[in-house]
Amino acid sequence: MSPASPPAARLSLENVSCRFDGRDVVRDVSLSVGAGEVLCLLGPSGCGKSTTLRLIAGIERQSAGIIRADGEVLSGDEVHMPPEARGVGLIFQDFALFPHLSVAQNVAFGLHGTKTNVSARVTELLERVDLAGYGDSLPHMLSGGEQQRVALARALAPRPRIMLMDEPFSGLDNRLRDGIRDDTLALLKEEGTAVVLVTHEPEEAMRMADQIALMRDGKVVQTGAPYNIYHTPVDRDAAAFFSDIN
Ligand code: ADP
Ligand code: MG
Repeated sequence: MSPASPPAARLSLENVSCRFDGRDVVRDVSLSVGAGEVLCLLGPSGCGKSTTLRLIAGIERQSAGIIRADGEVLSGDEVHMPPEARGVGLIFQDFALFPHLSVAQNVAFGLHGTKTNVSARVTELLERVDLAGYGDSLPHMLSGGEQQRVALARALAPRPRIMLMDEPFSGLDNRLRDGIRDDTLALLKEEGTAVVLVTHEPEEAMRMADQIALMRDGKVVQTGAPYNIYHTPVDRDAAAFFSDIN
């Protein structure tokens, strides 16, 4: 790389497409996310948000385009790095904690190293998500919000460079949701993780995003800071999508 090149983004997608059964469900998507930045993929159901996230995770393979992290190719024409080698963390709506493992065992699941080091990292993370003292509990003994925090601690444990979150707050009680959103965001910012957050709720994107990528029919139709997208929608449909925020 020449000295004049700008530093590589933590995560970048360049003209990424994905075709299922002869139909492009992700079309020519280009995105870039910096360390410590939150990008929200926002759009109606079926527009290709989750597929885009699975392409970044390496669970699905794109039909065209390049995905890089810190300049390194994760997927391209000739490369398909396996999910576990990508340095990505995943959090989905249903948490998917292991029901038969304790909270501490869940958080330790993806960690390697000496027992002492693993146990120190688990203790540190449980404190950070306000669950010190819950290490020996089983997931079913915890509330939905607490389980979500265990999922966050588990996903953060191996220090992923990129966190991928697919509608992670939609199963939570309205009353708890705002607090958990803010705490999650603060923790991810502290760790300097780049975040791609999928949501179909404009209000959630406005609250959490540094950048919003508005998707429709597999394409990104507009990218920008929340304020700009809200006040300068690219077209009528974009304006209508934001119109029920109060
Ligand atoms: P979103 O997350 O925005 O709701 P998805 O990415 O889940 O949208 O889906 C986008 C489109 O791709 C949908 O029409 C969906 O039915 C289709 N799709 C998703 N996964 C597959 C698959 N594995 N095989 C075929 N079609 C799929
Ligand atoms: Mg989805």
